[in-house]
This record gives sequence, structure tokens and C-alpha cells, in this order.
Amino acid sequence: MPEAPATPLRVAVIGAGPSGFYATDALLKARDDVSVDIFDRLPAPFGLVRYGVAPDHLKMKAVTSMYVRTASDPRVRFLGNVEIGRDLTADDLRRHYHATVFAYGAPGDRRLGIPGEDLVGSLAATDFVAWYNGHPDYRDVNPPLDGPTAIVVGVGNVAVDVARILAKSPGELARSDIADHALEALRTSQVRDVVVLGRRSPAEAKFTTKELREFGELEEADVIVDPADLELHPASQKLLKEHSTEARNLEVLRGFAARTPRGAERRVHFRFLYSPRALESNADGTRVAAVEVERNTIEERKDGSLSAVGTGATERWPAQLVLRSVGYHGSGLQGVPFDERRGIIPNAHGRVLDAPDGAPVPGFYASGWIKRGPSGVIGTNKADAIETVAKLLEDDLPIPDDPRPEAVDQLLAERGAVVIDFEAWRRIDRIELALGRKHGRPRVKIVSRAVMLAAASGDDTGEADDIDAYRPDDREDEREDDREDDREDEASTDS
Ligand code: NAP
Repeated sequence: MPEAPATPLRVAVIGAGPSGFYATDALLKARDDVSVDIFDRLPAPFGLVRYGVAPDHLKMKAVTSMYVRTASDPRVRFLGNVEIGRDLTADDLRRHYHATVFAYGAPGDRRLGIPGEDLVGSLAATDFVAWYNGHPDYRDVNPPLDGPTAIVVGVGNVAVDVARILAKSPGELARSDIADHALEALRTSQVRDVVVLGRRSPAEAKFTTKELREFGELEEADVIVDPADLELHPASQKLLKEHSTEARNLEVLRGFAARTPRGAERRVHFRFLYSPRALESNADGTRVAAVEVERNTIEERKDGSLSAVGTGATERWPAQLVLRSVGYHGSGLQGVPFDERRGIIPNAHGRVLDAPDGAPVPGFYASGWIKRGPSGVIGTNKADAIETVAKLLEDDLPIPDDPRPEAVDQLLAERGAVVIDFEAWRRIDRIELALGRKHGRPRVKIVSRAVMLAAASGDDTGEADDIDAYRPDDREDEREDDREDDREDEASTDS
């Protein structure tokens, strides 16, 4: 009798962002007999490349062509629009897979913990980013852009992304794949001064030099730097290494400080050594009107690192929009261990632990931001995924009750999940690109989930005349219907 074929190694990857794809790629390269299901709660794959990377950084998004190759491998399935915790549980994953790699990133924001943070006009930069990138859950963020001054708190790459988007002209923005609704809102934006605020000195800023240089190339904005802000405390001077990113950043900032402003319509100001202490409201208490900031000095800690210490001297800076860009924070999934303080899944080199410093949880792994925290560039996640997959392949994995792919399909069908596979995503992708061609944009993103599902299930080639039916504005009526349904649902729950 012929031997029954051995079951391939079945792996679930949770999150179709860079980390999920790099983990899948590492599995495919390591084993022929592997079968990977990549899940994402959104109908679209690519995670932070689609919803985090700035819309004007189109070259950076070209990395998705590698992910497309991975997804096209016959050993891989994409199951979009499936949420772990809603459509599948952690126990379901155990029942159907030898191993699960959690790679769902860190989508939440960190807070400043100062008075006034919840006023209208005070927003997390992460929400602003998701809004302008057309994330379906953030289409109604509506940042108030009717005042002349925006303050961005933090000097990482997200801070410079949001400052740049606020400072770009409508013409520059139209050449990006920014969501239609954000393009429209920014077209009439009244923001003229964008202040980027670092609590430490420029030698401690986290942004990278390439991103900083882009401010020197803005078509309709001057970049303003006070040379006095670039004089370093001896402790900062001591730590500054020649040819380091920080040294290059300082060089670029010095170049900006030496410029004579052109009298452009907008200005981006870099300020250092200030911390926000409180957000003040306008007279009727409805929205942000100013930020109280405290002047800092640099102090060397015992371990040699540098911290910002308040001097007690405060100033009041008017601002109608305040974007805190002080880092992302992960969140937990039911049935999966989580370290609230660090916002990560506790793990040892990718092996999930039942508590920080606890014991390994068989079959569960983590990769990317949910493993190590929100740091590094896209490529950093590749080495990180390779490490996690190496641990997975070293381990004695638990045997799942039912590893058949059809068992997962059946379960999802029973639970009423509308699964978007990779072919269905490619239909959405084709329509977005066709909309872009028609409207002179690199891509017009479909934002609403309902419209994405309609695009995924249709047989549209992207060439039809009525392609605009998928355009966000033309679906305003559908959004109204969605809202009407929500209101009815709420009313029936209340009664
Ligand atoms: P980040 O690089 O960690 O920067 C966070 C910033 O917030 C730092 O300047 C930090 O200052 C400041 N901060 C934190 N708490 C603060 C507080 N209470 N008050 C004032 N300032 C505070 O984080 P990110 O900008 O969110 O970026 C996350 C990761 O994504 C980074 O690795 C980044 O490089 C990457 N990313 C890359 C790109 C790109 O490659 N173009 C684009 C976007 C994001 P301290 O240093 O003083 O703590």
C-alpha cells in the first residue's frame, strides 16, 4: 500500500505586513513541505507599507513587489478580512496549525500624559497617518486644518513624515498615493507654520538624514532653523560620532539654518530642547489653542545616556493642531500572552513566553514590531523574521488536530467571514491603479471596506468606463447608508 503523504508543516502568520511576509519568505526558503496561511484583518495586504509609509515615499512602497512574489507561491494563501479574536480564536489556530507567527505590528499610539491631550485638535500622529493613507478605520478622523499653526511633538521619522505632508502643496500631494479625502482636506488647509518639536537636542533626534533632507526640497515651504538651537551641550557633543546619522543630521540642519527664507507660503520650523507640559483650550474650552512648553537642558545619566531635564522656564506657543508623534504601541490578542508595559508579546528571540521571563508557549512565535517594539526600518524586519523562523524550525512543534486547509475555510465560512484571497486583492489593486491612471495619480486608494469587497468580488478589469463607481467620493451615498445602518443598530441595542 502506498504511504499516505506526510502533512506539510502548517503555519499561520498573523498580519500581512512586512514582518508577516518576511517570516513567510523565510519559511518557504527553509522548507519545501510547508504551507502558510497569512491572515490580515483588512481586505488589503502589506500592513504598514500601505497604511504607514508616507504616501509620497512611493519608491519605498516598491518593496511590495517582493511580497507579491511570496504571496504567489503555491504554498501560500492570503486570507484577508479575517480578524483573529473575531473570526478565529487562539485555540482555533492551535487546532489547525503546527505553529503561528504573530506579526501584526503595533498599531496603537503612545500618549504624552499631559493636561489637555484629549481636546479637539490634539491627535496622535499615528491616527493622522492612518487617515491620510486611507485606512478604512480612520477615514473619519477629520483633523482640523483650519488654523495657521500645527505643532508636531517628537523628532522621529513619523514626526517628519506628518510635518512634510502638512507642508506640501496640493500639487506635490497629488503626485503621491494619498487618500482622496485627505488630498481634498489638505487642498484647503489653512496650516501655514508647522513646528517640529524635540525634547532633547538635534544630536539626539531619531529621524534619518535622507528624510530630513527632503525639507530642503519642498516646493512651497521654507525650512526654518535657529542656529542657536544647534549649539550642543558638551554631553551631546561628547557622544556625537563622526559620520554617524546624528552628525549628518546636524550638518543638514546647519545648512537649513544658513538659508535665507524664500518667503514661501508655508514654513517648517525645527525646535529643540522643549517639552510640552500642557495643551490649553480656546475661550469656550472646545479645542486646542496653545501649547505650554518648558525649556529643557541635557543631563547625562549614570549609564552615559542623555536625558532632557526641564529648567522651569515655560513659554506659550499658539497652535490649533497638535500631533503627538512619540511612538507606536502594540496591543494584545485574546488568548495570546501580552506585556502591557512594553506593548509587545513577551518572547525570547521570537519564541512566545507565557509572561515576561516566563516559559515558552508551544507553537506560538512573534516577529516584527509586536516582538521587539516599534523600531527600525522596513528591512529591519527581515533579519528579525529570519531569527523567529529559525527558532520555530528548531522546536518540537505540537501536532494540530486538523491541519487541512479546507478545515480553516469551512470554519470561516460557518462563521460568516468574507475572505479576500490574493486574487481578490489583485482585483482591488487593479481597480485602484486604473483609477490612478484615469485621474493622473499613481493610485487612488479605495478606503471603504464595503467598496473594497465590491471591487474584490466583481469581474472588473479596471478598464471599464464606469470605474469611477469605485472612487471614494462617488460612494458617499454608501457611506451614508453604512452610517444609517450603524445608527439603526445602536438604536435597537439601546431599546
Ligand atoms: P521614534 O523614532 O521612536 O521617535 C519617537 C520620538 O518621540 C523621539 O524623538 C522621542 O524623543 C519622542 N518622544 C517620546 N516621548 C516623548 C515625550 N514624552 N515628549 C516629547 N517627545 C517624546 O518613533 P517613530 O517616529 O514613531 O518611528 C517608529 C519607527 O518607524 C522608527 O524606527 C522609525 O525610524 C520608523 N519609520 C521609518 C520611516 C522611514 O524610514 N522613512 C518612516 C516612518 C517611521 P526621545 O528620543 O527623547 O525619546
